[in-house]
Amino acid sequence: MEPKYHLITYGCQMNKNDSERMEALLKGVGLSPTSVKEEADVILVNTCSVRQSAEDRVFSVVGQFASLKKSKPELIVGITGCMPGRDRDGAIRKRLPIVDLYFPTKDMGQLPRWLGELRPALVNSTDPVEDYLKVHPDREVTRQAFVSIQTGCNKFCTYCVVPFARGLEKNRPLKDILDEIQDLALHGCVEVTLLGQTVNSYQAPDPEHFSTNNPYKDHFAGLLWEVNQIEGVSRLHFTAPHPLHMTDEVIDAMTLPAHLNYIHLPVQAGDDDVLRRMNRRYTAEQFLDVIDRLRAKIPNLAIGTDIIVGFCSESAEAFERTVELYEKARFDISYTARYSTRSGTAAWRAFKDDVSLEEKKRRWNVLQEVQERIVYEKNQAYVGTIVSVLVDRYEPPKITEEMLAMPKNIQAVLAAQPGTCYGNSREMKLTRFAASKEYVGKIVDVKITKADMWVLEGELT
Ligand code: SF4
Repeated sequence: MEPKYHLITYGCQMNKNDSERMEALLKGVGLSPTSVKEEADVILVNTCSVRQSAEDRVFSVVGQFASLKKSKPELIVGITGCMPGRDRDGAIRKRLPIVDLYFPTKDMGQLPRWLGELRPALVNSTDPVEDYLKVHPDREVTRQAFVSIQTGCNKFCTYCVVPFARGLEKNRPLKDILDEIQDLALHGCVEVTLLGQTVNSYQAPDPEHFSTNNPYKDHFAGLLWEVNQIEGVSRLHFTAPHPLHMTDEVIDAMTLPAHLNYIHLPVQAGDDDVLRRMNRRYTAEQFLDVIDRLRAKIPNLAIGTDIIVGFCSESAEAFERTVELYEKARFDISYTARYSTRSGTAAWRAFKDDVSLEEKKRRWNVLQEVQERIVYEKNQAYVGTIVSVLVDRYEPPKITEEMLAMPKNIQAVLAAQPGTCYGNSREMKLTRFAASKEYVGKIVDVKITKADMWVLEGELT
């Protein structure tokens, strides 16, 4: 019987993209996927370390494999991703005694060799792959795809585990990225999201592959231009940029036709002292200057952000400056996290996590209220306008108990009514409208008739 693997992925899009590479590696040496863990010869967990709760979930899941391993001792259990990456002193490894393979993402190319060493009959090749970023992700091509352009980070924000978990910034060759996107476009993909920890710091290791007529010197702007030349890609965006690298050229390249009217630009805090202790390398004023330059060039740009509340020694006054910055930037969406200390980081070594949980919750709620008010106000401006939507989901009409009590011919008429289609506009606003399932995958114009905080509602034009 064909050997099987069961892969569990936690965390961000980057992890999901890494798992697609891992799937390609495993399939390449003769394993096939299974969603039933009891059937698997190899179970791999791709982990996230961003919060303690994410790691706790991994301890619990791996704990459940212990009984499985008892009944099937030849089962191989592997842990990869951020947890092994950041585990410099082996403290995490000690808590996972049943694990056979424990490796950071960048070493996944060794999987064929390691599996061959543990169970030679499991794989048909033990040849390792030196650079895992060269592995072509195994994925079902849909209308949308995420493409990693770099891994790791050089910024060392004091609260963050990423530089430890993923190592220093490493950029993929431009040619590999463009070949991958060209292939996706040939297979029907229309929307590409470029991924990187500080995606706009991209430096091509092979700049000779930039087109001679590419107008930009900044490599990330140049990459945006190159992707714009690929036929079929009509929606392009990226996450997550660092404010420090929002050059005029990058902002200019965001006006090219494929680019969406949206940017997710993490600010984290609005107080200069907190920003300095976070090692974010900009002041609130410098961040707002980036926002001004973006809006001057792209007036209808929607902007999202990440914020941490309750960072070490963040006073109530310092938090108020974050609220002030929020009011000035008028973000369209924000993801707010309550600070939690992560072992191994500079903040864990140097600062005290001294803002109480109650106060963190209070600050979170304050920002939530500000966000909801601003987003509601901003979304009203969409009423009466036409937005372009890539439809990615369909819900059939709801059959209620009342309907079931109706005569069969009326039921049939009601059941034939269109359901609801959902998708994001070019401003990444979730939009819904009544239409049939056939619209899934299409890009359509929708006239907005109503807007609330989180959804624009409209009708097909
Ligand atoms: S820029 Fe800062 S927050 Fe983002 S991945 Fe790098 S170290 Fe972490």
